[in-house]
Amino acid sequence: MTSVVVVGAGISGLTAAFYVNKFAQEAGVEAEITVLEAAPRAGGKIRSEHYKGYVIEAGSNGFLDNKPFTLELCDDLGISSRLLKSRDSARRRFLYINGRLRELPTSAVGFLFSDILSWKGKLRMALEPFTKPAQEEDETIASFVRRHLGEEALRKLVAPMVSGVFAGDPYRMSLKSAFPVMAQLEKEGNGSLMRAALKRMKKAKEMKKKLAEAERQGKRVHKPGSAAGPGGVLTSFPEGIEYLTQTLASRLGDRLLLNKAAASIERAGGEYVVHLAKRGSVACDALVVAAPAYSAAEMLSSLDARVAEELAGIPYTKLAVVAFGYERSEIEHPLEGFGFLVPHEEGRTILGCLWDSSMFDHRAPEGKALLRMMVGGARAEEKAMLGDEELVDACKRDLRDIMGIDAEPEMIRIYRHHRAIPQYLVGHSARLERIEARLRDLPGVFLTGNAYRGVGINDCVHQAKEAAKRVVEFITKARGKVAE
Ligand SMILES: Cc1cc2nc3c(=O)[nH]c(=O)nc-3n(C[C@H](O)[C@H](O)[C@H](O)COP(=O)(O)OP(=O)(O)OC[C@H]3O[C@@H](n4cnc5c(N)ncnc54)[C@H](O)[C@@H]3O)c2cc1C
Repeated sequence: MTSVVVVGAGISGLTAAFYVNKFAQEAGVEAEITVLEAAPRAGGKIRSEHYKGYVIEAGSNGFLDNKPFTLELCDDLGISSRLLKSRDSARRRFLYINGRLRELPTSAVGFLFSDILSWKGKLRMALEPFTKPAQEEDETIASFVRRHLGEEALRKLVAPMVSGVFAGDPYRMSLKSAFPVMAQLEKEGNGSLMRAALKRMKKAKEMKKKLAEAERQGKRVHKPGSAAGPGGVLTSFPEGIEYLTQTLASRLGDRLLLNKAAASIERAGGEYVVHLAKRGSVACDALVVAAPAYSAAEMLSSLDARVAEELAGIPYTKLAVVAFGYERSEIEHPLEGFGFLVPHEEGRTILGCLWDSSMFDHRAPEGKALLRMMVGGARAEEKAMLGDEELVDACKRDLRDIMGIDAEPEMIRIYRHHRAIPQYLVGHSARLERIEARLRDLPGVFLTGNAYRGVGINDCVHQAKEAAKRVVEFITKARGKVAE
């Protein structure tokens, strides 16, 4: 029997373990899987706390259905019927600009007449088809957006989005690593995003026509995408997104070992030995490291100091999530939407606020409202570490000034993430190439997780599934060699 150890039981490690098991069974290979998790619970950054009738997300509040990976995982787990889509009104998103909340338009015409950007800013955006080519192969998000859309669009539209997704700094993050789709669009449009978007729209129209024709002929057709539009629909579960990691963890049963931190890894003959921080060790033929990069660096330093150094060079931001529960009747604001983001230049404490109980059913008790604010991030890390009282006061002040909420929250929870989200800075892709080159000398060792190619749940699931495929290929080949 081949043994596989997975280190880390966040969504990445749990998914990797699930698919190693599935693919090994399908390939007729016997694999004994052990998952080592340092914490007393599985789930990592995914945690849904049930408190005073509220369902509060300490981290992620769901995944978008515009990529297939998490939906497929739910199918494979047999839990698709439990999925909970966010309400239609959650498509409405707001920005706090020049002291007022403004709704983000969803169409080009709506955008033209909105007051989010000045006419000068809009005119600059209209020059997008004449974008100059990039000076560097790996450029910052800020440089990319300035070239294509101008300074105002960068500050008011894109920078808040970067803080919404990565809690990141657009002046340091790599465009091609953080938003590979944008880099791809630039190529498709011969340097222009607008040209690429038009091409894609034309293709989608043609595809729609073809599908309609096939349907008319009585053929069964698979329609790509969903009614969600390009952004997708935020999706979770009535119990919170942790239902997904809990289901994965329960499928592992006693193969998941909690409170077992991996400390170092040693190569012994054809196998690897994972030494635990407290006591003991586990030997294995293949190893999936799905712990955060800083932790992977520590455990791999005994195997390859250069890989460890590269991993340790991936920085993480600090972030605090502050949840307030209110009597709904005490808030005048209609709370119809997803929530809002705040550009850095507005000088507020919060990066944004999510109207969780408007997005999803089951998030707050009857007659109550749940709001969650993000504080800190790469451009204001110190704010994530404010004392509890100061943090809560600053959040209340921001909600009063931005949304006109004077009421006292009846429920307050604070979740601190000292190393919340990895930052893909310029040079990230080159760093990954160097890591991968060195891992070729460590056959049977695989890295997966949010530190590499995407931080969203969909990206983590996708990368973990791909890692699982490679693990099963590796153990199948290794078994073949033994049989020879
Ligand atoms: C505040 C916040 C909001 C977010 N919102 C969204 C969202 O709305 N949508 C979305 O798609 N994504 C969101 N994300 C991102 C997403 O949740 C994460 O990228 C993803 O959950 C990371 O999963 P992971 O398994 O790669 O890492 P982690 O969740 O960090 O898991 C790593 C695991 O490894 C364990 N570990 C560490 N060291 C060791 C060791 N030495 N031995 C054994 N185990 C170890 C840890 O305890 C942990 O359980 C959000 C993230 C944060 C922080």
